[in-house]
Amino acid sequence: MAKNVLITGSTSGIGLGIAEAFAKNGDNIVFNGLEEDGAEIAAEIGRKFGVKTCFKNSNLMTPEGVQELVDFAYSELGSVDILVNNAGIQHVSKIEDFPLEKYQQIIALNMNAVFYASRAVFKKMKDQQFGRIINVSSVHGIRASEFKSAYVTAKHGVIGLTKVLALEGAEFNVTCNAICPGYVKTPLVEGQIKDQAKTHQMSEDEVVEKVMLKKQAVKSFVPVEKLGEIAVFLSAENATTVSGSVFTLDGGWSAQ
Ligand code: NAD
Repeated sequence: MAKNVLITGSTSGIGLGIAEAFAKNGDNIVFNGLEEDGAEIAAEIGRKFGVKTCFKNSNLMTPEGVQELVDFAYSELGSVDILVNNAGIQHVSKIEDFPLEKYQQIIALNMNAVFYASRAVFKKMKDQQFGRIINVSSVHGIRASEFKSAYVTAKHGVIGLTKVLALEGAEFNVTCNAICPGYVKTPLVEGQIKDQAKTHQMSEDEVVEKVMLKKQAVKSFVPVEKLGEIAVFLSAENATTVSGSVFTLDGGWSAQ
């Protein structure tokens, strides 16, 4: 049976890849993101896969923004069966120079919004005896890299929350899992490649090889399609016992 899926930050990159995978699976999707053409992106996926889609550009930096999006999802689709907390941003800086505003924004979006959205859907998921929450953390949820203090803090926090929600949902067929990708070539990473090329005075190709993928044993970006497939797998009706888990797709980074 088709499920209703709310995916934050789904008008770009990983979120969009996950949305395509659910659409292909026949599920209806609430899109969210700050891209100006978000409504068209959502409509296009709806047409392509013959599923119901809608879009809301709520800014998830505040609890009110998150609640607005969740309310929109219920009013459009009637239920949220699957929640994918994906929206995220990055800023790279030495801690002593880290702008406080950037730190607060990363914590607000990458971690706090995951709590607010999960809190807002949890009771109804329990009541309907079905719920799947998938948190897009990162290999930086289990490993650190220098100059990413805010991001690593937020992504580790998301994994802690994932485990708690798995426990609280267990009795009610509500699962919660985290996906931890290594590098995926999305606009977020393309921005980092450009910045690093300037910092290290290297070509962008050199940055990819010598800086970005240095810690991955498999020297290629993680394809968004694989993340989509994992998200659909975790959301299956029979995936009740898969909960509180951390799925790494990091090309062997965390094997070291
Ligand atoms: P992206 O920049 O391509 O997409 C981010 C999405 O979040 C966009 O739709 C954007 O509009 C939305 N967004 C940004 N700020 C928002 C806000 N204030 N309110 C609502 N939406 C907002 O990035 P991506 O690489 O696809 O990253 C998606 C997630 O995957 C993030 O949580 C990121 O940390 C995580 N991740 C990415 C990588 C990678 O290599 N790209 C690796 C590991 C984890």
